[in-house]
Amino acid sequence: MNWLANLIPPRIRSFVGEQKEVPDNLWQKCPGCEAMLFHRDLAVSHNVCYHCGHHLRLSVKERLEIMFDDGKYEEMPLPQVAHDPLKFKDRKRYVDRIKDAQSKSGLKEAITVVCGTMGGLPVVVAAFNFNYMGGSMGAAVGEAIVRAAELALQKRAAFITIPASGGARMQEGMLSLIQMPRTVAAIELVKEAMLPYIVILTDPTTGGVSASFAMVGDIHIAEPGAMIGFAGRRVIEETVREVLPEDFQTAEYLLEHGMVDMVVPRKDIKETLVNIIGILTKQKVAGGSGPNGGKHKSGENQARGGKATGKAMKKAGKRGKRVVSKKTTEVKANISKASSQARTAQSNAKVAVKKEANETKKAAVKDTKKTASAG
Ligand SMILES: [Zn+2]
Repeated sequence: MNWLANLIPPRIRSFVGEQKEVPDNLWQKCPGCEAMLFHRDLAVSHNVCYHCGHHLRLSVKERLEIMFDDGKYEEMPLPQVAHDPLKFKDRKRYVDRIKDAQSKSGLKEAITVVCGTMGGLPVVVAAFNFNYMGGSMGAAVGEAIVRAAELALQKRAAFITIPASGGARMQEGMLSLIQMPRTVAAIELVKEAMLPYIVILTDPTTGGVSASFAMVGDIHIAEPGAMIGFAGRRVIEETVREVLPEDFQTAEYLLEHGMVDMVVPRKDIKETLVNIIGILTKQKVAGGSGPNGGKHKSGENQARGGKATGKAMKKAGKRGKRVVSKKTTEVKANISKASSQARTAQSNAKVAVKKEANETKKAAVKDTKKTASAG
């Protein structure tokens, strides 16, 4: 339209006023099918492509709103930790990177901890903000996960983590790596208290996050097409000297190979969570399908009467029961599988922690000896 705008004499243009430029973030290209997606339609579909079903990344706020009852939850304050204890600097100072990330994302850290109810059941959620330094896990994030686990214990609530992370935060060096065993130990407390621990793996879950608390869930749910893995493709291919399959780090591939229990579309995640928590805690669920099967709606309709609809609903209810019982057995099988995986992971983590403790002890003893000899 530039040529047309140029035809208008400047005096008239100033009278009419310059035309506002159309913001370019109204349309977004789908990475799956390359269709152009309008922002309002995307908001309605919770950032899922309405042509091909590709799951685009979703902000934490939007995600939590679709998960909690009535979209309401309480955000917990994040624990205070020392910022940049290593005084790290690469091309930029780490403190400046933090400031940048905070102003760009409008968030305080790469994690948000909230609590509320899903289907009337109490839950604590720790969700990662990928927009904040790639959702990387530093001391603040690790501390937040530990506190969130403690909160779940205190409230006798199910604990859900939603990783979306590039891994450990390199600017914090060893302090970020130590968060791996710390978070796993915190999760173990939740499990010892017989509370469900569920992980929702979203795009992307990689590095130190996928190598710690994100892989020790009682149940692992993944979003369709999510990238989940530890190291990048090139690194693995060079190490194992093999060409890897095209889709080897996707949610679907991991489901086939037993690392993920189910791949669930975004719109069904809440219902699935409510079902699982209901089954694991043997609690009755409000406003969802209960652990004992049968959609509550069919029950309602039966109570209302109407022979024909009643019969149909009964049938549907039976079908629902069958589906749910099938799901239940699947889930149970998955639980045992997952818990055995978790046990090995936890024992590994324990060994790592013990080793570390021993090493620090040794170092401390050495230091004291040195100072003693110097003195
Ligand atoms: Zn698409």
